[in-house]
Amino acid sequence: QAAERTSQEIVQENRDYTLFSWSVQGAANPMLMKRAEGVYFWDGDDNRWLDFSAQLINMNVGHQHPKVLEAIKKQVDELCFAGPGFATEPRGVLGKKLAEVTGLAKAFFTLGGSEANENAMKIARLFTGRNKIITRYRSYHGATMGSMTASGDPRRWPVEPGIPGVVRAFDPYCYRCPFGQKVETCHRECVSHIEEIIQMEGPNEIAAILVEGITGSNGILVPPDDYYPKLRALCDKYGILLIDDEVMSGFGRTGKYLATQHYGIKPDIVTAAKGLTSGYMPLGTVIVSDPIAQYFETHMLYGGLTYSGHPVSCAAANANLAVYEEEQIFENVDTQGVYLADRLNAIKDKFDCVGDVRSIGLFSVIELVKDKASKEPLAPFNGTSAEMAKLAMYLKSQHLYAFTRFNMLWVCPPLVITQQQLAEGLDIIERGLALVDEALQHSRNHPEEVHAPVRLTSASH
Ligand code: PMP
Repeated sequence: QAAERTSQEIVQENRDYTLFSWSVQGAANPMLMKRAEGVYFWDGDDNRWLDFSAQLINMNVGHQHPKVLEAIKKQVDELCFAGPGFATEPRGVLGKKLAEVTGLAKAFFTLGGSEANENAMKIARLFTGRNKIITRYRSYHGATMGSMTASGDPRRWPVEPGIPGVVRAFDPYCYRCPFGQKVETCHRECVSHIEEIIQMEGPNEIAAILVEGITGSNGILVPPDDYYPKLRALCDKYGILLIDDEVMSGFGRTGKYLATQHYGIKPDIVTAAKGLTSGYMPLGTVIVSDPIAQYFETHMLYGGLTYSGHPVSCAAANANLAVYEEEQIFENVDTQGVYLADRLNAIKDKFDCVGDVRSIGLFSVIELVKDKASKEPLAPFNGTSAEMAKLAMYLKSQHLYAFTRFNMLWVCPPLVITQQQLAEGLDIIERGLALVDEALQHSRNHPEEVHAPVRLTSASH
């Protein structure tokens, strides 16, 4: 029997023979994940990590949930694969469930979120006969050519000009309103300027407005209550489809199936992935309204994927969604979401380096600043700084797995987290923020020691 390989050997082989996402390969420093359970995972040295990122906002029912594992194993034994033109039981069951929980009609299955957005844009173009797509600057929609172009954030830069016809608008980023307004007194210029864009681009040219239900990887931008009703009305006025990318914000993260359900509106097309299977199997979906489904009754759906409707992926999704109901996952999101919001608000009051906190359910971010009054970011947009690096290092040293990017820190744990586990992680974050406050104070006292922040020249995350 071969000797067991060391963690270092396994990591080295990964580094030698595989390419890592969004990474300068020479700087890639992958951690070995050995095993996982619930809200924890263990690295190659058997350190237990508290997962405050739910592994890229996937693992909603937690790692290694026995009911999802059992459903996958059962499906593997029964039927591992059927081509995309076949009917299978798990595929039909999932389609019906998705129609039920979104109020839409039919689902097309992909392998993940990028492909879902790619197909959503294509479906919108086919259905409307129009070409242009309006997206927002702080959106992220994926890493395929079309979805990367549709993304507004700097990660699109390397593929530009990408696909033609994408036009961008500003986001409902109330802490740093692009129109210099305050949410209490503004006229929702974040919506009204889109009408101006529509006029300038040609109302009959625009197929869809593509938005993240709640913008995720650019900072949990929770729009004001009337944002979506106004955006929906704008779409209706011009016959433009509203595509709601719920890849991050959907399927439980905010305590509902869709984040836009908090706003009482219905999109024409929903895309989802990640939480749909709690990350257990690759699966994405494009769910379309009845008029769109009717259109394709007599028109060709130009598109297909070998693994569309993969029975094991669909079985994983069905089991995952059953766990949501059996274990009252949404209720836990609501309960823990209130505790999380309270703790985040207290953190905002307590630390000089915290400019804003935003949360909805278990989807939350802490935005760090050099100074509360000026709101100067602790690291520049698309850049990093010594203080942010210090915070990230501290969280790592405490085995808290949480994302930091630019001047933000995300708190997005698995949805099965308990209050005690949340408190455990938030206590670590508070100690990290105290270190940042100390470092900022030190810089104020010793300006000669301050290093210029590093602004990255192209997308790096
Ligand atoms: N849309 C959003 C909002 C996302 O956050 C992501 C992934 N982070 C995607 C699309 C792309 O999904 P995938 O990585 O599964 O292709």
